Amino acid sequence: MISEHASPLATLGGVDAGGQNVHVAALSSALARRGHSVTVYTRRDDPALADRVTFAPGVEVVHITAGPERHILKDELLPYMEALGDGVAADWAQNPPDIVHGHFWMSGLAALRAAGSIAAERSIPVTQTFHALGAVKRRHQGLQDTSPPEREWLEPWVGRSADSVIATCSDEAFELKALGVPSTGIYVVPCGVDLSLFSPEGPAESKGRTFRIVTVGRLVQRKGVDLVIEAMARLVADTAQDVELVIVGGSGSADSLRDDPEVQRLSAKARELGVEDRVHIRGQLGLDALPAVYRSADVVACTPWYEPFGIVPLEAMASGVPVVASSVGGLIDTVVDGGTGIHVPPRDSAGIADALAALLSDEDLRRTLGRAGRERIEARYAWDQIAADTERSYRRTIARARGASSRSARGTVEGVSR
Ligand code: UDP
Repeated sequence: MISEHASPLATLGGVDAGGQNVHVAALSSALARRGHSVTVYTRRDDPALADRVTFAPGVEVVHITAGPERHILKDELLPYMEALGDGVAADWAQNPPDIVHGHFWMSGLAALRAAGSIAAERSIPVTQTFHALGAVKRRHQGLQDTSPPEREWLEPWVGRSADSVIATCSDEAFELKALGVPSTGIYVVPCGVDLSLFSPEGPAESKGRTFRIVTVGRLVQRKGVDLVIEAMARLVADTAQDVELVIVGGSGSADSLRDDPEVQRLSAKARELGVEDRVHIRGQLGLDALPAVYRSADVVACTPWYEPFGIVPLEAMASGVPVVASSVGGLIDTVVDGGTGIHVPPRDSAGIADALAALLSDEDLRRTLGRAGRERIEARYAWDQIAADTERSYRRTIARARGASSRSARGTVEGVSR
């Protein structure tokens, strides 16, 4: 695995540490449980990091020096991808892998560079998971998108040059086809969830009011947490429900939380709408602290403008909690409207308020949807199952790469023009 900015060892919930970290960590561990040996290459962002760290049985994290040894925002990492690829290739000199899996477009560049620098007779197949696509991000974020301009052409190039691409939902597969990635090389394998960690049974936090709505995620604007605050204010005005909103995510400590610009924006919104006493911004929580929070929720709201996949709704459903989900990206596949939650249009706080009102006023509905959510997760989203599906896609990719002798067709980044 190459995961340039998202180390399995990182703390989650900050601006750039979320689903990709969880995905790489859990998928690697689950593949190792199937007998594979997995190495995760990531960029060294602290000089104190050891070169090699055992993360789980059969999983080693290797820190490659590529650029300054400090935290750098992911959108500023492009200049260091050649060094990352070269560092990975150097590590392969003794023991090349059977396949390399790039996570995020920039790691795809490093993966292709590393694979391309290995002698042709030992050709290493490349598979790629994008986790997010620049074309989609630009469509929704416009000028707020801080991706480097090169992403526009390098990302599709990675998709077309890899031997296969693993999309995490059907919506992403359509987007990839639109970018010119051949559909025969696209496999759809979703993310998974830790079923033993996230479950309805176990301790739950006590609530501060009769009903509790929970949001979990990196606190960035496109996650739409402000819409949930608006929806709750509307709900309180319309129905006088005794309800609170717990927001998990944001900077770590209490001090840095106060300085977090998104926290300030959300707090101002809550004040402006007169619901500040009902909104509790908790900051970043470790995965171990989350199950008790999910279990305390009557509803989990996931209302992003767009969402490449979205692990949080899986965690909510695994915990037996119904989800109010905007019908975008991965949430279209994972949350069943009327089955495990309620779909709402993106950026529609009135729609969210209606969905919350429907759920909070009907205990039977909440229980039925929550139970169905847990069943859906057990049937489809256990990491061991996702690892088995990923392994199948790896085997197909290896066969494709052999058949197509794709190395000669792959080319180099330098050879690609706008
Ligand atoms: N997460 C966490 N602590 C936090 C905030 C988020 O552990 O304070 C975890 C969350 O439980 C989930 C992941 O980070 O496992 C977020 O993944 P998701 O796919 O929902 O969003 P992304 O961060 O990829 O946009």
